[in-house]
Amino acid sequence: RAKAAGRNTMRFFDPEMQAVATARAKLEADLRQGWQNKELVLHYQPQVSSDGQVVGAEALMRWQHPERGMVMPHEFVPLAEETGLILPLGRWALQSACMQLVVWSKHPETARLSVAVNVSARQFHHPDFVQEVLDVLKYTGADPKRLKLELTEGLLVEDMESTVARMVELKQIGIGLSLDDFGTGYSSLSYLKSLPLDQLKIDQSFIRDVLVDANDAAIACAIVSLSKILGLSVIAEGVETEAQRAFLLSHGCKTYQGFLYAPPLPAERFREYVHERLMAEH
Ligand code: C2E
Ligand code: MG
Ligand code: MG
Ligand code: MG
Repeated sequence: RAKAAGRNTMRFFDPEMQAVATARAKLEADLRQGWQNKELVLHYQPQVSSDGQVVGAEALMRWQHPERGMVMPHEFVPLAEETGLILPLGRWALQSACMQLVVWSKHPETARLSVAVNVSARQFHHPDFVQEVLDVLKYTGADPKRLKLELTEGLLVEDMESTVARMVELKQIGIGLSLDDFGTGYSSLSYLKSLPLDQLKIDQSFIRDVLVDANDAAIACAIVSLSKILGLSVIAEGVETEAQRAFLLSHGCKTYQGFLYAPPLPAERFREYVHERLMAEH
């Protein structure tokens, strides 16, 4: 025991650990600074239906740091969640996406698009969350029917009763609820039926090898079936090839998101993309 404690004490002064802690502290300071300097942007990834129409976009955060370059979410979202910075960042993302919705609503080509915004557990469970959503909708004038919130399974297991109540409140506002990364979490099938969801989002880890891994294919197909039984829509994320899309279509999944269509794009590029696809149709 003493020995173990001794080792732990030693570890505390481990220069490698020290370096990690220093880098983390630096990243946190940079992120706070970057947030103040308005270095965060949203990119939009098209969601496409089986007839080739863009039906919506997922808003994804990027951090454009003057020296680090474009920092991706996996490098700063977990830190933002740990430090609580995700609360202002998440509110900003919601507001920017709603402002974008309003811009798009004014152009015939983009008027019917929906926008999906990712919501962290910490954000969702914050007592002010629903009121903040209402405030953002009021402030921006965005149509709640065009707004979707992407929740993850981890977020839903916390306190079932209050979670469902909160989801119901959001649904009553008219907002759509999508279950992101579906299949990677711990949600039991029995409670899935009591959640007021609109959509399941098949995680990209099942799509990647869907053509070569029989287990992944089985899981993807099971999620599609489940969505039908539960009366939910389903979307596959991480669709990279035409063959993957064809497989998904043949198993009843009719909405896709992935590099096959486009990566997440700056808002201006996104609009061009929608335009180009419409032109290609004619
Ligand atoms: P997610 O919500 O599951 O988003 C999908 C991720 O898959 C995005 O990564 C997207 O760029 C990537 N992706 C899309 N199509 C493909 C494809 O065909 N192949 C591959 N390999 N990847 C594809 P990104 O933008 O790096 O975001 C990663 C995660 O960070 C998101 O996963 C989400 O959990 C989180 N995140 C991003 N923006 C926000 C935000 O505004 N708020 C919160 N709370 N989380 C966010
Ligand atoms: Mg998402
Ligand atoms: Mg996902
Ligand atoms: Mg993911």
